[in-house]
Amino acid sequence: MSAGRPAPELPEPLSPIVDAHTHLDACGATDAASTAAIVDRAASVGVGRVVTVADDLAAARWAVRAAHWDDRVFAAVALHPTRANALDDEAKAELERLADDPRVVAVGETGLDYYWPGKLEGCADIETQIEGFRWHIDLAKRIRKPLMIHNREADHDLLTVLLDEGAPDTVIFHCFSSDTNMALSCVAEGYVLSFSGTVSFKNAHELREAAKVVPDDQILVETDAPYLTPHPFRGAPNEPYCLPYTVRALAGLRGQDPVELAKITTANARRVYRI
Ligand SMILES: [Zn+2]
Ligand SMILES: [Zn+2]
Repeated sequence: MSAGRPAPELPEPLSPIVDAHTHLDACGATDAASTAAIVDRAASVGVGRVVTVADDLAAARWAVRAAHWDDRVFAAVALHPTRANALDDEAKAELERLADDPRVVAVGETGLDYYWPGKLEGCADIETQIEGFRWHIDLAKRIRKPLMIHNREADHDLLTVLLDEGAPDTVIFHCFSSDTNMALSCVAEGYVLSFSGTVSFKNAHELREAAKVVPDDQILVETDAPYLTPHPFRGAPNEPYCLPYTVRALAGLRGQDPVELAKITTANARRVYRI
């Protein structure tokens, strides 16, 4: 798991908040009890609901199970863009079956990752990623669930493929990391932008500017735990209970009351995920 730094202390509660994107399995949850322990800790500071997200088939099966163990947990299933080369007919059939489960609230994380090809062994190349992304877009439209996007250094192609394929009714950019121009393009298309702990990093100047231009009804908050632990705990293991740190940082940037932003993002999460 994460580096040697100790776990962040519990933040002051901020309620209600929905963690719009996390990975409970990567946080160490294995069964119903360990899942409940993580969500209990989150709930103790106001993070009452979480969406646990899969990046491969095993994680997708697990996410659906976790969402059935605990009514505070919802699932999202897909093959991560870096794993799009595993999207054969068998995988497609299983993903379709899993995505149809009533506890699955989104198809994700899918999208494009232009950082890892050539650096990570076995990573899907760009062409394969685009093909996989198109398949996930079509799946989200067929089952009428939101599309949850992972974007790394692929702003232009993401917008182009979405326009070309025809975007589903709800598109969520998880861990939005781009600049103001990209934020405005997404907002104009009606997409929803989800902000993680990276928005609290003092050196993330362009992202912090982008966070200011997103309208209230198009914003979500997430941990992407166990990654991207918010300031001042960077490098320590992240968990859904850390989300209030990010909400407070984001509220500060946007000149909003954190309690108000918690309410706004929770209402948005309930609307887009229908939870
Ligand atoms: Zn991602
Ligand atoms: Zn993620």
